[in-house]
Amino acid sequence: ATPAATMVGSTLSATNGVLFKGGDVLERVRGIDTVVFDKTGTLTHGEMTLTDVVVFDSDEMVPDGGNRAPDGGVLDASEREGSRESMVLAAGAAAESGSEHPIARAVVEGAQERGIDVGDVHEFENVPGHGIRAETDHGSVLVGRRELLADAGIDPDPAEETLTRLEREGKTAILVAIDGQLAGVLAVADEVRDSAKETVAALRERDIEVVMLTGDNERTARAVAEAVGIDPENVRAEVFPEDKADHVETLQAATVRTSRSWIPFGGKTERNTRVMMVGDGVNDAPALTAAHVGVAIGSGTDVAIESADVTLMRDDPADVLKAVRISEATISKVR
Ligand code: ADP
Ligand code: MG
Repeated sequence: ATPAATMVGSTLSATNGVLFKGGDVLERVRGIDTVVFDKTGTLTHGEMTLTDVVVFDSDEMVPDGGNRAPDGGVLDASEREGSRESMVLAAGAAAESGSEHPIARAVVEGAQERGIDVGDVHEFENVPGHGIRAETDHGSVLVGRRELLADAGIDPDPAEETLTRLEREGKTAILVAIDGQLAGVLAVADEVRDSAKETVAALRERDIEVVMLTGDNERTARAVAEAVGIDPENVRAEVFPEDKADHVETLQAATVRTSRSWIPFGGKTERNTRVMMVGDGVNDAPALTAAHVGVAIGSGTDVAIESADVTLMRDDPADVLKAVRISEATISKVR
């Protein structure tokens, strides 16, 4: 970019809540033909709330099969169900109490709001992209995705119907196992950001392909994709943190025929796809670096912001479109 382009770009960006790191970023933004959005914290607020606690019928889960109240009285069926729910939630919350993950915070807050005594966590292991292993007052607890339990030799299949139902509702459902036994399912939900849908529509109108990349499961991801207008075939779900950058590189290795009008040489050209990746998390940082343009949500993690070329100060997905518009306006003015 010429110094003039840099100046115009920076001036515009300062008043628009879009921060470009250097003038050549504008040129690169102008050339993109695909936008990849992270789901959690980017298309959604990333502030999750506990919505469901489902327990499986196992008498071994609760002392006395959950039949006894603390005062020694016998519980009726609904009280018994309630005490099992509390037990599963307490175990899950204890395990999650050492984690900063949005899921973990939702589970811990959900337990607090319900007045449940969570107890202590003695040992704790975070398995990124999978969940938590912990030793708690409630026993050995696993909380996380299907694979976390399967890897420990616990069959997650009996929970499949429950998981599927919750995931179709766009919720993230996680399994809880206590002392080697499948105990229940917790679900958390997140709200889609207000401008996500209109932004996806506006990008697509400009012939920009829109893709979702998430560690969350396929069904939840698809439900959110549908809500914001992303094609089901453009959903990349269950992607491990270390694989997000690979997905961006694979997209960029593909050839695209683009007819976007501001592409030089007659407006039609065949070349490698240029990806703009938008994310907020530590998980997204390598993908932000790998992309033609990395865009960080302003309230995201420091490492995401450091890895990005553009920062959205207002956490508003609509500012992705604004960045594209600024890059076009800047170039055409200078020319
Ligand atoms: P995202 O890419 O959506 O930010 P992550 O890669 O952090 O998601 O996590 C992927 C999946 O791993 C989650 O949807 C969840 O099933 C599981 N998981 C990760 N961390 C935790 C945790 N602390 N507690 C429970 N489950 C977790
Ligand atoms: Mg995220």
